Amino acid sequence: MDRLESLTAAEVVAEQLQNAGAACITCSFQAEDMVVLDMVRKVRPDIPVLFLETGYHFAETYAYRDRYAALWNLNVVNLLPKTTLVEHEAQFGKLYQTKPTECCQIRKVEPLFRGLSDYKIWFTGLRREQSPTRANLKKVETHILPDGKALAKVSPVADWTNKDVWAYCKANNIEFLPLYDRGFTSIGCEPCTVLPVDPNNPRSGRWAGAGKVECGIHTFSEKA
Ligand code: SF4
Repeated sequence: MDRLESLTAAEVVAEQLQNAGAACITCSFQAEDMVVLDMVRKVRPDIPVLFLETGYHFAETYAYRDRYAALWNLNVVNLLPKTTLVEHEAQFGKLYQTKPTECCQIRKVEPLFRGLSDYKIWFTGLRREQSPTRANLKKVETHILPDGKALAKVSPVADWTNKDVWAYCKANNIEFLPLYDRGFTSIGCEPCTVLPVDPNNPRSGRWAGAGKVECGIHTFSEKA
């Protein structure tokens, strides 16, 4: 087995943060992202926490982000699209209904990749169990951004189960985004998130009926 795969999540975090190079974490404030954020902030409290500010999040997500930003004194960096929501809808209307992949490209993928070009290490809360598209995820992968820059994409909880995530949050007094209490199992932009349609697939409430399973931020970058 790859040496990195045999390390615990905390060991992966500690080792990667010892490496030279600027590090950041992307955070949607879902449970697994909160686990990795908690581990990372305890080693490096001022790590930039990149939040994809699409303009379409649930009010509960914004409130939770702001509450934990204050509670943990987080260095939140809101990554903004080139257009405001008003400009975007004036130009395209409800693009999330007509062309969700284009909408994600404009409001998530492009801002993220622009934001990531400042860093060499990118922490994520991705897990293999979340979807078939993530089944082959490694704890540390090299990703090439569209501008040609390479960075290490680090997913310390890649091999964790949902149960592991909830146990960590409970043990570390991390409250959950309240939307979980309403039955959501994967939470993104409000117009593209419904309750799961397949109880065995936690991401089945994302872009339900649109034939789309990923926003593109984890599929558009190239693996080296
Ligand atoms: S998740 Fe939906 S609203 Fe958000 S950027 Fe993608 S298509 Fe647009």
